[in-house]
Amino acid sequence: TRYVADRITQVGRSATVALLDEVNRLKAQGISVVNLSGGEPDFTTPPHIIEAAEAALRSGATHYTPSRGLPALREAISVKLRDCNGVHADPERGIIVTPSAKHALYITLATVLDAGDEVLVPTPSWVSYAPMVQLFGARAVSVPLQPEDDFTLTADRLEDKVTGRTRAILINTPNNPTGRLLTPAEAAAVARVAVEHDLVLITDEIYEQIRYVDRPHLSLASRPGCEERTVTINGFSKGYAMTGWRLGYAAGPAAVIGEMIKVQEHTVGCAASFTQLAGLAALTGPQACVQQMVAAYDRRREALLNAVRRLPGVTCADPEGAFYLFPNITGSANPTSDGFAGWLLEATGVVVTPGHAFGLGGEGHVRLSFAASDAVITDTLARLERL
Ligand code: PLP
Repeated sequence: TRYVADRITQVGRSATVALLDEVNRLKAQGISVVNLSGGEPDFTTPPHIIEAAEAALRSGATHYTPSRGLPALREAISVKLRDCNGVHADPERGIIVTPSAKHALYITLATVLDAGDEVLVPTPSWVSYAPMVQLFGARAVSVPLQPEDDFTLTADRLEDKVTGRTRAILINTPNNPTGRLLTPAEAAAVARVAVEHDLVLITDEIYEQIRYVDRPHLSLASRPGCEERTVTINGFSKGYAMTGWRLGYAAGPAAVIGEMIKVQEHTVGCAASFTQLAGLAALTGPQACVQQMVAAYDRRREALLNAVRRLPGVTCADPEGAFYLFPNITGSANPTSDGFAGWLLEATGVVVTPGHAFGLGGEGHVRLSFAASDAVITDTLARLERL
């Protein structure tokens, strides 16, 4: 229709949302399905965070806040970045609180990209990166990684895709969907290419706290040469089970954050006031709740890994972080990701996401989320066992 801009009609719908429609259609037909396609913690938000929001509402935190976010929360984010990530971010000028990590990414791209610019995105990647880049008339250029070498990112692979229009590199660690953590060698490679071509680095670290191996989370902004060119995106959805609250943040050079504030000011204005105070409680309160949730994900991960590895022709790497398995199904009787997902749904009612949804390099895999409840995981294990 001529009422819709080309820029928008060219953007595809989210494959994971489309899958949800299919699940609801099957459910309406009375077919019993278990859905492992989502990416949402099943836990409710820890009580002390909910109490902080209640108290905030009762004490009058019902107004606009500064566009950058409440000073106390920016201060807490700055301390967290310094102590946990080795990242220096000025709470006055280098941090912006946003209604979700997704929105932090949105205003980052809105600020960094001109129409026609290119952003390098190692794939497989989260489903929203490429469409979000497209919303600004820019282009996400896939840097396809290979399952044969564990989806390792190298300087050569990045260099291969750099052109005169390349503006930024978008990194996600821990990674959705592969579950990998960025290694020091990969971080050094990214930093080298970014410095050499004077590119912006955007790093989505939303799964930071959800790790299963004894290796530190690596924040790109802490690497040599990166601080002045890196926008770090993070939020509260995954680690604190706060998806519905919509709260995130971006930290980076004052010159970039200062311009991002304009986008926020003229669109949403600010993140919700009482939500920000809940976020403050999350960052400054006890962290044992996070570790308990991670321990539960780890148990579910083990159980699901064992079951998936027993499927004929299926291999699966140990995810190091986030809450997804990304098995390789090319050796199975249904070697395409659509074929495998369709067969699994038919045979067991288990819903998984076909790997092609995550871009080049994703085909030949499916993604299973183990953020589902214990009951759903137990049900899945029983169905896979029967299979
Ligand atoms: N980044 C990645 C890689 C994700 O997987 C998700 C959620 O699925 C988000 C960002 C969104 O986080 P938020 O809920 O803060 O918008």
